Amino acid sequence: MSHTGSVGGQPGPQRTTDRASALSEPTLAYAELVAGNRRFVGGTPRHPNQDAGHRAAVADGQHPFAVIVGCSDSRLAAEIIFDRGLGDLFVVRTAGHTAGPEVLGSVEYAVTVLGTPLVVVLGHDSCGAVQAARESAATGTAPSGHLRAVVDAVLPSLRRAQAEGVEDIDGIVDIHIAQTVETLLGQSPVLADEVAQGRCAVVGVSYRLAAGAVRPVAVVPADFATLDTPAGSPESTGPAAPATV
Ligand SMILES: [Zn+2]
Repeated sequence: MSHTGSVGGQPGPQRTTDRASALSEPTLAYAELVAGNRRFVGGTPRHPNQDAGHRAAVADGQHPFAVIVGCSDSRLAAEIIFDRGLGDLFVVRTAGHTAGPEVLGSVEYAVTVLGTPLVVVLGHDSCGAVQAARESAATGTAPSGHLRAVVDAVLPSLRRAQAEGVEDIDGIVDIHIAQTVETLLGQSPVLADEVAQGRCAVVGVSYRLAAGAVRPVAVVPADFATLDTPAGSPESTGPAAPATV
């Protein structure tokens, strides 16, 4: 992997003359993700940066504008739901977007070596990993094999939900997304310092499988500006503001 190279991109109404520079800003990087998600939700994707010419252009280096720490769920493909292409997103996925050492190291690589200005935790409704953890907690039985590691990583979010009186699965998912944001920052002083210096932001978003839209549920720093969710989506009637953690 290399930190050299350019972001590139297809011409469009929002294209800037210095795209790499513009997308080095956390707020602009987040706006680009939201714009892509709106295209995906609206059925008007542009599929940017997926052509052979761009493939060749980024072969010598990468400059992704966002890290996605997402659930491995097969319906949560980052480049599709954010309508992006090669070289745009640095994607780390585990079942239940758990944040173990390899995930933390991958995030730190993107943020410090590649200079990526935004980390997005991507969770979703009806998450199987969260459901498995809830079942494990309810029955007092641990799953076999390495699946136990996934469940164990989600259990702190279950306990937090119980303490807050949240019982519905999607409410628990939101808490788990916020918990993952906190874990990333709490376990990675490197990432926390990048955020403190204003070079990076961390946003937790919840994705709706049927609607295809994302909704912010946690933001760091607290004054980081997130945008409205796509017009007409079910999320537009959801919580008015994301929690800050
Ligand atoms: Zn999931």
